[in-house]
Amino acid sequence: MALMIGVSGIRGLIGDTLTPQVVLDFAQAYGTILDGGRVVLGRDTRPSGEMFASAAAAGLAAAGCEVTHVDVAMTPTIGHAIRAGAYDGGVIITASHNPQPWNGLKFLDDRGVAPNPARAKRIEDTWRKKAWRCTDSFREQQRDSDAGRRHVEAVRGAIEVDLSPIRGTRVVLDSVNGAGCLEMPGMLRALGCEVVHMNGEPTGEFAHTPEPLAENLTDLCAAVRRHDAAIGFAQDPDADRLVIVDETGAFIGEEYTLALSVQAVLSRRPGAIATNLSTSRLVDAIAERYQCEVIRTAVGEANVATGMLEHDCVIGGEGNGGVIDPRISWVRDSLSAISLVLQLMCATGKRVSELVADLPRYAMIKQKVACASREAIDAATRKTAEAFAGERVSTIDGTRIDFADGWVHIRASNTEPIVRIMGEAEDRAVAEELIGRVRKASGL
Ligand code: MG
Repeated sequence: MALMIGVSGIRGLIGDTLTPQVVLDFAQAYGTILDGGRVVLGRDTRPSGEMFASAAAAGLAAAGCEVTHVDVAMTPTIGHAIRAGAYDGGVIITASHNPQPWNGLKFLDDRGVAPNPARAKRIEDTWRKKAWRCTDSFREQQRDSDAGRRHVEAVRGAIEVDLSPIRGTRVVLDSVNGAGCLEMPGMLRALGCEVVHMNGEPTGEFAHTPEPLAENLTDLCAAVRRHDAAIGFAQDPDADRLVIVDETGAFIGEEYTLALSVQAVLSRRPGAIATNLSTSRLVDAIAERYQCEVIRTAVGEANVATGMLEHDCVIGGEGNGGVIDPRISWVRDSLSAISLVLQLMCATGKRVSELVADLPRYAMIKQKVACASREAIDAATRKTAEAFAGERVSTIDGTRIDFADGWVHIRASNTEPIVRIMGEAEDRAVAEELIGRVRKASGL
């Protein structure tokens, strides 16, 4: 497996495609682009993290950066630290939801926003050409052991609803032994919840496949039932994504994290929202209730964050369980998402299953198709856009066609030589039929 380089950073197999040298070189390249500024450096709990953080610190220092070590931290904590501390950028050692043999790097700019495609390319080009600088004047490295607490304070300070109704409520949290172990249980307890913490040791030894998908969360669902809890939460290893289990122990689907967060915000502060083209129509249905605009962006956290900045959005995120609260940071944040969902429960007095039942039900189908080359993928998406010119078509990231009764989005993966095809409709058979029509037109 080659080193994966994309807008979400770099990821590789430890000791194979990802070595300390690769991490050092990438960090030096990014430090060069930051022109030797002040940089926050954090990592998730993977056992290789400390070693890679040392390599990254050396690369950043070589480029003349002043490095502030936050050590183990959630990705959104670094996003918040950059903004609050007026840093010039940040680097996080994480492979996000990839399994344990992986690690990688995420980069953030001086606003705490992930690189857009142009900036990601600049980092990659600087690395490929070894066009980094090496200074001979070094700046003393700093340490910040308080960033997690400040992040929690910011999330708690943004609470707008009386949370007394959840006092004493039992919640089950699965932090998969990742970075979410550190601050999340404390925040939940401070909000008055009784916390059953599963996989709560920050060892980086993942107790299950770490991507927060239904098939990996059967233990969490069982624990919610066993403990008679009101809700279950699962984080990915760097705690930017969050998924929810309802009080019956049912996994409600990753699309509902953003949907419930959008509902929580728009019911109090109507405004524009931003999400990517592959996210469920659930958010459109909610926005329609409050007559709010939905900005659809290309897939990728940076694109969503940029859309939010440009349109002064009150909330945004991605359907994979990533919620961005612009009052806290410009990265997806599981703490913000938990806070918003608990606020919605308190404001409405409803259980999770009731909140879900208040929203439309859609069936979403996700397919992957291997494709020989990027050119072939581009030709297929172009052909699709032409074939459905009479419908509502977006071509900002592959092709998305919005039909009256559903939508289909086909796009090239950022990380693999595959085409991703997603379709959604109220009825599963309709979603399948729409996908079939689009695939036929595209030649895929
Ligand atoms: Mg992640």
